[in-house]
Amino acid sequence: MSKCSFCGRAKKDTRLLIAGMTGHICDACVEQAMQIVNEELRSKKSFDVKGIKLLKPIEIKSFLDTYVIGQDDAKKYLSVAVYNHYKRLQQKQVSDEVEIEKSNIILVGETGTGKTLLAKTIAKMLHVPFTIVDATVLTEAGYVGEDIESLLTRLLQAADYDVSAAEKGIVFIDEIDKIARKGDNPSITRDVSGEGVQQGLLKLLEGSVVNVPPQGGRKHPDQKMIAVDTRNILFICGGAFEGINKMIGRRLNTQVVGYTASKDKEKIDAKNLMQYISPQDLRTYGLIPEIIGRLPVLTYLNPLDREALRAILTEPKNSIVNQYIKLFEMDGIRLEFTEEVLDYIVDKALEFKLGARGLRSICEAVMIDAMFKLPMENVKAFKVDKAYAEEKLLKLNLQRLKAAS
Ligand code: ADP
Repeated sequence: MSKCSFCGRAKKDTRLLIAGMTGHICDACVEQAMQIVNEELRSKKSFDVKGIKLLKPIEIKSFLDTYVIGQDDAKKYLSVAVYNHYKRLQQKQVSDEVEIEKSNIILVGETGTGKTLLAKTIAKMLHVPFTIVDATVLTEAGYVGEDIESLLTRLLQAADYDVSAAEKGIVFIDEIDKIARKGDNPSITRDVSGEGVQQGLLKLLEGSVVNVPPQGGRKHPDQKMIAVDTRNILFICGGAFEGINKMIGRRLNTQVVGYTASKDKEKIDAKNLMQYISPQDLRTYGLIPEIIGRLPVLTYLNPLDREALRAILTEPKNSIVNQYIKLFEMDGIRLEFTEEVLDYIVDKALEFKLGARGLRSICEAVMIDAMFKLPMENVKAFKVDKAYAEEKLLKLNLQRLKAAS
């Protein structure tokens, strides 16, 4: 009778017995072996940036170009910052050498313009641990100290708990504007956020040794803390800073009046004030000067115009349209969108101010019936044209999409 060649269990005592060339292995031994393999591999995987071939900033930017439309300035700043981050990590620790300081970054731009997408795309090409965390959790928690440190829990997890790897990683902190001090605004009563959270965050940005709860903040009070040094962690912050346009505008206006430089005034592109953002505006918005000082690279994202939205539909490597084509291809159906319908989808997104996220919701509404029915039908090709999309959207209240996006 066959039995496991590893533990000797008889076939009837196992759930599954797998036959090999000369022996057998049972399910329990497979699992145990898997654990041994994982542990061995983990301990062998030591982290070293020295052997990595550095992509040059221009190469990093072209990589970003394949996934993100436009936003050239932000891409340029990010590419340089990431490149310098690697160089800094590779620098020999000789005391008399010029020490390269870390340049944390802050990206400002309306929601849905590609901040997170940029961060995610950077993560795709990185060889250091990377994570995206949301600053809003800090405001919700109320208790400040410990929760700030738990921002690093995700980074530790991304590094598979290899502390030295995590200490060289990159953290994207989204919605940084939500922790701005709302002092002047009487309607905001809750100021658990405001300055306390910013002070806590400052500690991380500056570089210090912090105790990180390995399983995250609240649910596991007994866990043993892991000490993480944040000196070499690169922080990229992103925020929509709603209303900051007005502050920029006000500043620009007073400046122009002050200098009576009517020429300058003419040059200002009032439709996109974000491009003139300066650290001073972040200050007016409610970030404390110390935080601003620790985020020396400030760059912005442009609002998406018609041309950009149109390009987002088809141009990125994993564009929405390409994704549908792929989905249908898997059912053996050749899917095609007419140029006209693509323009129409963009028109609708603009009309209802749905932004880039809305493009996806509109496409989903247009495609749902086809995706539902066609896999059962014997069709080889399917063409989506304007009339088809109009018919599908007729039933739909686009205003509803706006609330969702
Ligand atoms: P946010 O600026 O709010 O972080 P996201 O990066 O999450 O915005 O963008 C939302 C979605 O919109 C992305 O997943 C992507 O599909 C699309 N998108 C936004 N901006 C761009 C862009 N510049 N290029 C390509 N896709 C974009």
